[in-house]
Amino acid sequence: MIENKLNEILARRCGKNIKDADNKEVYYALMELTKDYVKEGKKNEGDKKLYYISAEFLIGKLLSNNLINLGIYEEVKEALSKNGKAIEAIEEEELEPSLGNGGLGRLAACFLDSIATLGLCGDGIGLNYHFGLFKQVFENNKQKETKNPWIEKDSWLNDTGICFTVPFKDFSLQSRLYDIDVTGYENGSNKLHLFDVESIDESLVGDGINFNKYDIAKNLTLFLYPDDSDEAGNLLRIYQQYFMVCNGAQLILKEYCDKWGDLHKLHEHVAIQINDTHPSMVIPELIRLLMERGIGQDEAVEIVSKTCAYTNHTILAEALEKWPMHYLEQVVPQLVPIIRNLDERVRAKYQDERVYIIDKDNRVHMAHMDIHYGYSVNGVAALHTEILEESELRPFYDIYPEKFNNKTNGITFRRWLIHCNHDLNNYLESLIGKGFHKDAEELKKLMDYKDDDKVIDELLKIKQGNKKKLVSYLKETRGLELDENAIFDVQIKRLHEYKRQQMNALYVIYKYLEIKKGNKPKTPINVIFGAKAAPAYVVAKDIIHLILCLQQLINNDPEVSPYLKVFMVENYNVTAAEKLIPAADISEQISLASKEASGTGNMKMMLNGAVTLGTMDGANVEIADLVGKDNIYIFGETSEKVIDLYAKSAYHSVDYCINDPEIKSWVDFIVSAELLKIGDPERLLNLHAELIKKDWFMTLLDVKDYIRVKEQAFADYEDRKAWGKKMLVNTAQAGFFSSDRTIAQYNEDIWHLS
Ligand SMILES: *Cc1c(COP(=O)(O)O)cnc(C)c1O
Repeated sequence: MIENKLNEILARRCGKNIKDADNKEVYYALMELTKDYVKEGKKNEGDKKLYYISAEFLIGKLLSNNLINLGIYEEVKEALSKNGKAIEAIEEEELEPSLGNGGLGRLAACFLDSIATLGLCGDGIGLNYHFGLFKQVFENNKQKETKNPWIEKDSWLNDTGICFTVPFKDFSLQSRLYDIDVTGYENGSNKLHLFDVESIDESLVGDGINFNKYDIAKNLTLFLYPDDSDEAGNLLRIYQQYFMVCNGAQLILKEYCDKWGDLHKLHEHVAIQINDTHPSMVIPELIRLLMERGIGQDEAVEIVSKTCAYTNHTILAEALEKWPMHYLEQVVPQLVPIIRNLDERVRAKYQDERVYIIDKDNRVHMAHMDIHYGYSVNGVAALHTEILEESELRPFYDIYPEKFNNKTNGITFRRWLIHCNHDLNNYLESLIGKGFHKDAEELKKLMDYKDDDKVIDELLKIKQGNKKKLVSYLKETRGLELDENAIFDVQIKRLHEYKRQQMNALYVIYKYLEIKKGNKPKTPINVIFGAKAAPAYVVAKDIIHLILCLQQLINNDPEVSPYLKVFMVENYNVTAAEKLIPAADISEQISLASKEASGTGNMKMMLNGAVTLGTMDGANVEIADLVGKDNIYIFGETSEKVIDLYAKSAYHSVDYCINDPEIKSWVDFIVSAELLKIGDPERLLNLHAELIKKDWFMTLLDVKDYIRVKEQAFADYEDRKAWGKKMLVNTAQAGFFSSDRTIAQYNEDIWHLS
């Protein structure tokens, strides 16, 4: 059946059949086949519709995920293999859209999958960045950014022909809407709406990622998060954000009016989830558009306040957007009187200046606007929401306790188990059936096998197989030479000081020095990193530089490399994650307690049988609760202690260097002769000074406990049966972290879709 259809499509497209066509031709044909299935299949509908607005959707490759959700993956795979084609090779032809930066964008993508899978009527709204975030390449042990084009002549984007006009201060732009189908697992489909600007000019970008930041008509949707270290970059971000919400609001009102008409009842049929503060201007924009359509300001404010809900993703102060009013005046003067009016309403009611929208420096606090004029405020893990309520957003919680709620993040098991770990998925199916695909809690049935040696053996074998596959993938795609018999210790996530890759690097230094002294580990260790640093984030780039220098030093040292190797995997993205995660033994989740809102990488690795080494931060707290202390390695200071240290300014990293010669020896190694010979002295000296003089995220506070507990984990790894049991418990208890559960809760508590 599918074989015939595919042959038909190929004949029409290029006059070939599956056998004769090359992999790329087969990929395009499968894309067309998928789109046909979606077109003919069920669409999710309802009396109320959700719009999930987000600057990022880190969707990953779509082909296999769609085939799985449509229920035709196996059939396609067989049709291909009958004709001498491997589906894995076809997958390689697809380019990954880099429409996100990290966890926040990946969350939005998992949510779209779950919304469709639960049969809920809900679409995504975002921007169609032509070159994505950036593609990371390493040169001279440093990160270099290059553009990451992903839109081909044939792509998952469908041109809808829908255009809107977006007014800026001195000019207007015409938009064009492209849709990507979002398939639900054995359910109907929804859409991801990506807006683009008609006049975009890709030729503005030459080598690297630099371009003329002033030519808005040509540059608006070139990159996600253009460098904002200067004023032009900041203004461009505001242009992008307004372009997103102005188009989004027009689309929402158009769809609403086509179906319902009466704008006074918008909130009865529409819910808008604001993913972090990047889309916050949708609030004043919707008020503006409702007023343009004849609704009075008071009522417009009320309607919008019953329509919009806000998700907070971070307590890092620098990430909570505050736009200087004069920027908004330069870009979107039409919103300024509305924002001032919203602020006046707040000032009329509350005397506490901490809750004002416009502060005394005339900056607009986007999150404050969301909280006052949204009907729900949620954090993304239990600890995170607690910190929001008790400290970070305390004055708001005192005013609106009923608005605050927690929605612990989740991940879609379709991508992060069924697709990325076929062997584990198939084995689980053979043990406990397929029920866990849709009801993730059924994974708990695996607990019945926790003392079954045969099952434990099989899980260890599957892990070993995945490690082997990763070894060949990284050899072929990155030229890295991992040791398949080593412990795979994996830290993959964006590079940020609070995530403390630098602490893991200090472990590597410690271990290198130990091996040099003759203390060799029983099983070799491969420390694997993957991380992009924001282009203007100097310390983050210095940390990448340190890791790459350690990689060069250690992997080429014949005394050490049989026991310890370091790998920084270039261009960490969803595709790489799908290969790395099934092969991980240890999941490094070592952020400074209180700083990681939730994490989702931790959930992906847990699901795939890695054991967490982490702090009591974000969703690690909930993981620890679920698996119990025998199946997780916890270290470091608590969030209370950390928050207290900040409050009292009581942490001084230099004291740790003065008082502890061991810590001093590891930190000083950053500027040792060996490393200075390999690396850029200025960068290494910078990083060394940063750690000693500032260390804002308290690496040296936790480094000793980290090393102690990590050594314990490596020692426990030697008892393979006991370790296999830990793996089993982690997979079995991961059901709570299905994004199906998260989305069911959003719907139950916030959206109320039918
Ligand atoms: C899941 C994921 C993330 C988020 O990882 P954290 O460890 O939660 O920060 C970032 N990037 C990619 C590509 C991911 O798949």
